[in-house]
Amino acid sequence: MNVLISGASIAGPTLAYWLHRYGFRVTVVERAPALRKAGGHAVDLFAPALNIVEQMGLLERVQERHTGTERISVWREGARGPATIDLGRLMGAISRRHVEIMRDDLGEILHSATADDVEYVFGDSVTSISADGEVTFEQGAPRRFDLVVGADGLHSRVRRLTFGPEPGLTRWLGAYLAVASIPNYRELRDTMAVVVGIGRLAGMYSARHMSDARALFLFRPDGELHVDHHDVEAQRHLLRQAFADVDGEVPRLLVETDRADAFYFDSVTQLCLDGWSRGRVALVGDAGYCPGPAVGGSTSLAVVGAFTLAGELGLARGEHTAAYPAYERALGGYVRASRAFAAKMANRLVPRTRAQLWALTAGTRLLTAVPAPLMRSLTRRGGRLGLHDSVRPKDYPALVARA
Ligand SMILES: Cc1cc2nc3c(=O)[nH]c(=O)nc-3n(C[C@H](O)[C@H](O)[C@H](O)COP(=O)(O)OP(=O)(O)OC[C@H]3O[C@@H](n4cnc5c(N)ncnc54)[C@H](O)[C@@H]3O)c2cc1C
Repeated sequence: MNVLISGASIAGPTLAYWLHRYGFRVTVVERAPALRKAGGHAVDLFAPALNIVEQMGLLERVQERHTGTERISVWREGARGPATIDLGRLMGAISRRHVEIMRDDLGEILHSATADDVEYVFGDSVTSISADGEVTFEQGAPRRFDLVVGADGLHSRVRRLTFGPEPGLTRWLGAYLAVASIPNYRELRDTMAVVVGIGRLAGMYSARHMSDARALFLFRPDGELHVDHHDVEAQRHLLRQAFADVDGEVPRLLVETDRADAFYFDSVTQLCLDGWSRGRVALVGDAGYCPGPAVGGSTSLAVVGAFTLAGELGLARGEHTAAYPAYERALGGYVRASRAFAAKMANRLVPRTRAQLWALTAGTRLLTAVPAPLMRSLTRRGGRLGLHDSVRPKDYPALVARA
């Protein structure tokens, strides 16, 4: 059975790996001309995703490439000095297992684990998908596939071709996000430096093995901005306006961001689709259920989603009318919980009030200073398992082998 996956970042190669293990023939088409190696931004793998990475035999390689960020130095606007937050302890409140890694490092590891068994086509993109599986491409000749999966990110083309345009499928979480690749002029290695005020947060971080750094901005305007996706100058202007009156490190961060070639700007938006399949087509990862970039643990969700979709297809021997609904049922709870978590995190990370600002800085520092079990129970209302740790994907490899 032939499966086409659009997108070769995290969800795509993870799905390809497991589909190949279950006996499917897989092709991955990726719009970028080659595998991205510039780093991207830091992403998080929590317990259930790390368990899957371990089953793929990739845990050591992933751990070797962790960013090495150990603490966050948070400077509240107007305060006399920063508060230091232990990142390991903070993440320990979210999940019992956690690795932070640059997205492109993770993508490279996943790609190399599949490159010998899966056909990768770079520099191309799907242009149409017919009901019987005929697919046309921007560059290549038309081909027929039994199944097509969109793993092509928050602004997925496969989703647009199958479910229609984005408006109506998305919910803005009230903030905007920008990331730029800048020189590591502060020589940061194990510390992320953050300045936070009401309605805005600016930060800078690097990774042990990276020669440059990332500038990160989150801000909350009065209302939704109508800015053209392609108008980078307008986006940089909006960013300068939002942080114009912040002093300290931020003016230099803005200058470096202005000079940066690699610049990303988007709204913090979550997808609200109730289902992620139509006919032969399914969506996986950010393409189907991004709870919001940088606020919802979406990388772990993408890995678990890919593992689940492959597992259900393996169990149903490729019969999508059985596998897709089972995939949607199995993942629905995790997706809904991630959406709720992301909406809360967007409010916490970009505080609206002085009390929320205090909670983010001094409150978080105090919380991470208490013993880990107490911290967990304080953050999880009486010690219940958190968003990620409560997720228990089925043992698909064993189930599929038995089936
Ligand atoms: C600025 C930023 C900060 C983030 N911070 C965090 C974080 O701290 N923690 C965390 O867990 N997550 C974070 N995320 C989210 C994380 O990056 C995603 O959840 C994760 O990468 C999802 O993987 P994916 O494979 O579903 O999609 P993506 O990583 O978005 O990959 C989509 C792939 O599809 C390709 N593609 C796009 N269009 C087409 C097309 N038409 N045809 C073919 N290929 C196409 C793209 O080039 C890309 O390779 C952040 C995201 C952003 C943008």
